[in-house]
Amino acid sequence: MNLAEHLIPKDIFDQVSLSAQQLQVEAYVIGGFVRDILLKRPSKDIDFVCVGSGIDLAEASAKRLGIRQVTTYKNFGTAMIKHHDHEIEFVGARRESYRQESRKPTVEDGTLEDDQNRRDFTINALAIGINPDNYGELIDPFDGLKDLKKKMIRTPLEPSITFSDDPLRMMRAVRFASQLNFDIAPETFEAIQKEAHRIKIVSGERIIVELNKIILSKKPSYGFNLLFQCGLLELIFPEMMALHGVETIDGKSHKDNFYHTLQVLDNISEHTDDLYLRWAAILHDIAKPPTKRFNKKVGWTFHGHEDRGARMTPAIFKRLKLPLDERMKYVQKLVKLHLRPIALVKKEITDSAIRRLLFEAGDDIDDLMTLCKADITSKNSERVKRYLLNFKTVEQKLKEIEEKDQLRNFQPPVSGEEIMETFHLKPSRIVGDIKNEIREAILEGIIPNNKKEALNLMYSIAKEKGLEF
Ligand code: ATP
Repeated sequence: MNLAEHLIPKDIFDQVSLSAQQLQVEAYVIGGFVRDILLKRPSKDIDFVCVGSGIDLAEASAKRLGIRQVTTYKNFGTAMIKHHDHEIEFVGARRESYRQESRKPTVEDGTLEDDQNRRDFTINALAIGINPDNYGELIDPFDGLKDLKKKMIRTPLEPSITFSDDPLRMMRAVRFASQLNFDIAPETFEAIQKEAHRIKIVSGERIIVELNKIILSKKPSYGFNLLFQCGLLELIFPEMMALHGVETIDGKSHKDNFYHTLQVLDNISEHTDDLYLRWAAILHDIAKPPTKRFNKKVGWTFHGHEDRGARMTPAIFKRLKLPLDERMKYVQKLVKLHLRPIALVKKEITDSAIRRLLFEAGDDIDDLMTLCKADITSKNSERVKRYLLNFKTVEQKLKEIEEKDQLRNFQPPVSGEEIMETFHLKPSRIVGDIKNEIREAILEGIIPNNKKEALNLMYSIAKEKGLEF
């Protein structure tokens, strides 16, 4: 098969080809870029492998393409250049083997075949020649093309060898299956089940890259089900694993919160590609196992799971090497508030309850509503319809109140500074008390959210407290 016409942008491939000829080395495009040509998925990352020095080839190619900056990783013998929006990597063909308890491979120079052997999957081991005698020719020693057609993830070598060389490849198998909607070949899957425990030698930073790609796939439940079935989930994310299972007492069962969570995740994925909103879906019920109680009268309860879940969020983010910044706070906030819109639906909706929700959710109110709608997983379509209608009412109310009171990004209309200046106070509790009273009055609808009314209230509170001004 000749794929020359797919080697675009042409100037990149032409110049790298000429550089390889000048250096008298053979060069190939390899890996994801080749796979993605055959899958018709546009890709911006191009990997070249040459039988020689990858760094020399990168430098010669950069010169021809008029690129000044070459980033070299001497320890790995690789180099990278950027050309417009393409990231181009160069590596010398290698032969690698890993020792049992270490991620550090012993690396030697090798042939193209050696390099293809150390690739993770047959579909990622495809190469295309860019030399005068084989320009555009597909080199497919492991029937990767056949696996692409069969939609199959399979290791090029005996799977236990591939996985024990680098256990991250087990996560990558699930990631590619989930991203591409492929199956994992039975012998490859069995090897993952056997070798899963070796994931412990892989750094959290590498694992989370793959997990996040699973989460961002079109139907993430597929990837999570695979992680669950092969035993990796238990090892990398035990809190999620704990959601699995149903307990029955006195003939009363609760729902399986693992499958419920996956359904919520799939639902939300139809409406957002935001990784952290998807993370909020994953974590919204994460504290159900530790808060689960059985009560003879009411059956199963999970009281306070939203608060407990919010408290668990930082530790989970830390362990999984997710960012501990405002993205974590955002997820934490959504987990904490995820029951609030539902609670509003159940009761008579008061304006003050709506105001409080707007005040607490701020700009994330729309995402919170997206999460709550995704949380409806009833199989009863009448019930789903009713719930969605209820949410519409809540959304309508939110809009009305927001237009009237502008509470989304509530800023206290009277600042602590102003209170201190007016009453000649030092920073003290009383300043906070006055601010709180003003905020409560606004949220309760006793006064409107504006400066004049807030100042009036401030003076009358001060009078009550006997303050001088
Ligand atoms: P994507 O761009 O979607 O992440 P990709 O296949 O390009 O997919 P990369 O992680 O960029 O993924 O890897 C590029 C290529 O390098 C792969 O196609 C594969 O051939 C090889 N590769 C990457 N990681 C490994 C690994 N851990 N073990 C073996 N080969 C790997």
